[in-house]
Amino acid sequence: MPMTLNCPVTEAQWLAEDIFSITVDAPKLAQQAKPGQFVNIKCGEGLLLRRPISICSVEGDALTVVFQVKGEGTRWLSQCQTGEMLDLLGPLGNGFPHFPGRVLVVGGGIGVPPMYDTAKSATSADACVGFRSEKQAILLDELKAVCGSVAVASDDGSIGRRGFVDALVKESLAAQTYDAVLACGPRPMLKSVAAVAASANVPCYVSMEERMGCGVGACLVCACSVGGHYRHVCKDGPVFAAGEVDW
Ligand SMILES: Cc1cc2nc3c(=O)[nH]c(=O)nc-3n(C[C@H](O)[C@H](O)[C@H](O)COP(=O)(O)OP(=O)(O)OC[C@H]3O[C@@H](n4cnc5c(N)ncnc54)[C@H](O)[C@@H]3O)c2cc1C
Repeated sequence: MPMTLNCPVTEAQWLAEDIFSITVDAPKLAQQAKPGQFVNIKCGEGLLLRRPISICSVEGDALTVVFQVKGEGTRWLSQCQTGEMLDLLGPLGNGFPHFPGRVLVVGGGIGVPPMYDTAKSATSADACVGFRSEKQAILLDELKAVCGSVAVASDDGSIGRRGFVDALVKESLAAQTYDAVLACGPRPMLKSVAAVAASANVPCYVSMEERMGCGVGACLVCACSVGGHYRHVCKDGPVFAAGEVDW
């Protein structure tokens, strides 16, 4: 059941170019949160709409989000300091389904954070992640700690293999048997990863990060076509079976 809570910030860190992490002490939220769910964060008094940010990790009572500065809301968030209070609504959305066997988690850019918790909660996981360049690379040590292997690609070749993450996914699916591919990232990346998984006959679930209004299914801002019907990313998603998304 989603709740609105005022939570103290226990850690605020710069991670990479324009990318920050914030950890809050949120026992009730942490207890309920599932990998792939998100929180809707009130970003200052000036902004009416909360901003949706995926849950990156839950460790005891601590809940961490990782975000990139895009506009006014995330800029405000990046200036939050330890000891300040953050107003969170969550946990929201459905999250990734749990598979008993080995999964391949796939993240692109700022879609990597929710894949950390997803990998951590899996019975067994490998990861393929892609970034624009080394400057935006995040959470690699964390993923290495919870995954059997972590393959990295970058658009400019400054870290890992030059190219897109879907090429790494194709190689991983050819080399190893997986129960599922679980992915989060930009829509074109998700579409390619879904196609690669489909041709390898592996179930694939994708987290869609559409622009969002209310976060609880009351408005239609985040509508997305799935199986020929409009669905709310915030309430019915953000995770959908890739085969059902009308790409
Ligand atoms: C379910 C969900 C989970 C998300 N998880 C994360 C996360 O873990 N980390 C993270 O950094 N971001 C995440 N996002 C995106 C994040 O919500 C937006 O970047 C943020 O709301 C932008 O707010 P702003 O006030 O800074 O920028 P705004 O002034 O609102 O917008 C600035 C720019 O960002 C673009 N933008 C706004 N919302 C989105 C969006 N949802 N997707 C893509 N572009 C957007 C706008 O079109 C505009 O160009 C998530 C979004 C959703 C829907």
